[in-house]
Amino acid sequence: MKIICIGRNYREHAKELNNPIPKEPVIFMKPDTALLRNNEPFYYPDFSSDIHYELEVVVKICKVGKAISEKFAPRYYEEIGLGVDLTARDIQQRCKEKGLPWERAKAFDFSAVQSKFIQKEELPSVDALHFQLEKNGQLVQDGFTGDMLFPINKLIAEISKNFTLKIGDLIYTGTPAGVGALSVGDRFVGTLEGQKLFDFEIK
Ligand code: ZN
Repeated sequence: MKIICIGRNYREHAKELNNPIPKEPVIFMKPDTALLRNNEPFYYPDFSSDIHYELEVVVKICKVGKAISEKFAPRYYEEIGLGVDLTARDIQQRCKEKGLPWERAKAFDFSAVQSKFIQKEELPSVDALHFQLEKNGQLVQDGFTGDMLFPINKLIAEISKNFTLKIGDLIYTGTPAGVGALSVGDRFVGTLEGQKLFDFEIK
């Protein structure tokens, strides 16, 4: 399986990092070795001193597809969850300055926290989902998928122009504003429409 991530999909987050508003989705990937599941702790690696959390809605692909139209995109997913796109912001900044790829900053081991999933039928429309991240009991990110620059079905159409989607692939749909650094000892809880989907610690 592959993990497809979207950058700068919320205006307020693009602004907080001084990035331009994109005209088409910014796409990057993580390997399957990036997954961190089952509320396992994240061990702070020694190659970075500025790792940030980015809470994102995650779509799990349930059907093989290529060149999917936006209209038919809902047929390709049944479950929605949350993820945290962990980012070594110090390394990413160096990559960006040099115009280099982001993998060392974005695709390292355990950089893709993945929650449990909920059937989409049990949720409101994918374009009207509220999701929150608490750090040590304090709300740090409060997202609404209606604020996406490229909504989920549009993302599936755009991604599948270039990449065949396969069963089990995950799409991390971008983070809203409020990203920040994490520290050893922090505890993160993610909720989607009021349901707690993950709860993990930094060690
Ligand atoms: Zn992200």
